[in-house]
Amino acid sequence: MPDETNHPETTLQGIPASPGIAMAPVYVVARGFSAPDVYPIHDEHVEAERERFRAAVELTKNQLRELQDRLDHLSHTRESGIFEAHVMLLEDKAVYDRVLRAIGERKQNAEFVFYAVMQTFLEAMRRIPDEYLRERTADIEDVSERLLRNFRTGGAPRKPHPDEEQHILVAYDLSPSDTVSLDRNHILGFATEQGSANSHTAILARAFGVPAIVGVEDAVMDITALTPAILDGYSGKIILHPTDQTRARYDKILEEKKKIRSELESHRAEATTTIDGREITLSANIELEHELPLARHSGAKGIGLYRTEYLLLNGGEIPGECEQAEVYSRIVRAMKPNLVIMRTLDAGGDKLPAEPLTEPEPNPFLGWRGIRVSLARPAMFREQLRAILRASAHGKVAIMFPLVSGLSEVWRARDAVRTCMDELEKEGVPFDRTIPIGAMIEVPSAALCADLLAPEVDFFSIGTNDLIQYTVAADRVNPHVASLYRPTHPAVIRLIRRTIDAACDNGIPTAVCGEMAGDITLTPLLIGLGVEELSVGPQLVPRVGQAIRSLSHAECAAMADEALKCSRSSRICELSLDIARARYGHLLD
Ligand code: PEP
Ligand code: MG
Repeated sequence: MPDETNHPETTLQGIPASPGIAMAPVYVVARGFSAPDVYPIHDEHVEAERERFRAAVELTKNQLRELQDRLDHLSHTRESGIFEAHVMLLEDKAVYDRVLRAIGERKQNAEFVFYAVMQTFLEAMRRIPDEYLRERTADIEDVSERLLRNFRTGGAPRKPHPDEEQHILVAYDLSPSDTVSLDRNHILGFATEQGSANSHTAILARAFGVPAIVGVEDAVMDITALTPAILDGYSGKIILHPTDQTRARYDKILEEKKKIRSELESHRAEATTTIDGREITLSANIELEHELPLARHSGAKGIGLYRTEYLLLNGGEIPGECEQAEVYSRIVRAMKPNLVIMRTLDAGGDKLPAEPLTEPEPNPFLGWRGIRVSLARPAMFREQLRAILRASAHGKVAIMFPLVSGLSEVWRARDAVRTCMDELEKEGVPFDRTIPIGAMIEVPSAALCADLLAPEVDFFSIGTNDLIQYTVAADRVNPHVASLYRPTHPAVIRLIRRTIDAACDNGIPTAVCGEMAGDITLTPLLIGLGVEELSVGPQLVPRVGQAIRSLSHAECAAMADEALKCSRSSRICELSLDIARARYGHLLD
């Protein structure tokens, strides 16, 4: 869409979350009470929009006073004062005047401007350390919702039909399930205020090939709906009102990326062996069954991580054993003769809980998630294990346990598998008795005790997304601590090496299936540390494959030895990047 306005080009910087470029007008949504439609207005309509706002406020105040009268008749408790507080909020000059002013400044419909102002206000309230005041946000949401409803009864807005069908979505935050349900024909990319490159939302965006950036401060408030924009998922920028020169530059970048993609695709069937003959298994991570064609087409040698929670926690009831067995069997058959590693339910953290919790957890990432949930819900665990075992009759399958923090969890989980095997055997149901069983290493305690865990399992898979956050105590989804969340922190690479050493001593392989595995600037480091398998999003398989084929294992191993002696993460990153640049600089973004 050509930008016919005189707005200067502006760039907002966020964090790159999913590579790619999208060019389209912006569509803004926010959180909390439901977002109204947003559309631009002409200068001559500014006064009329202000009038609509004033009318909606008056109507809301009248309704609240009526409600308060009614309550006063019924009771004399202090609850009846609640509507009085709501009226006072509507009379608050700071909010009222700000909305009137912002209608003229932003040139957007009154309800959206009111909505945006309230979002900022609420955000400020949520940061106040006073619990009582924080709790008042519910009142503000309530009165705002009522006022927004009253706009709808206050005369039809002049809503134009945007002539563009495709948009870049700008939102305060998107949950993993919002991301799964994005209409990808119309949403070409997204930018959010919250989130980080390692959140499940970002992982899904990468899996779906949707360009995305996160951590764009005040995006919802600062970006006007329908502004023409370019979203650059490589550098983490959103460029508003791009000039013709900027557009031309991005057209060229897109052209180059296309060329690289087709060159990479031409190599995808080749073995992923380093130039000095070290074989690295390259597999794909999937969340949903519909990613299978992409995973197969990518050249991946199997599925290194199937995140089953996206099937189990799909909104409704957890599917039963038979339904799960059908889905798992389809996946196994589709990937034949390659291996599919099925991770048992990993609920909690930033994903949905396995069941509604009566109280929100104070620290969800340190709470009820991963294998802890399965061990606490034996009936649910049993259904999943039986379903996976049944699928193992159709091809090569492995079971993997998430968020293992110590030995006893592995014992208990293995016992549960054995019990299910015995049951199935008695029932005459076919399955693979030699099914490999692995532990994810994503908690420092597991990495530090890897020598104790290794004799109990058939493989390790390092979940760097979690391992990094727990090692450096920086939440993987919190943009405020994103700079601390470093895959090359000396503590992280030492834990990776320790895990690999323990695995080698016990004759079992180690994979990496966290997002670090898909970052080709770090492929030299991981291979050098001794990782034997990398599992990455299907979109990334061709690129990581080509990186592996370009590297010398001996060179990487020498570099990793040096990296392990470094005290600064930036130096470790440089060492790996130097090799990456020299070996496949053209593939780096
Ligand atoms: C990880 O933590 O690195 C991992 C692969 O698991 P998830 O991202 O699903 O937590
Ligand atoms: Mg994890």
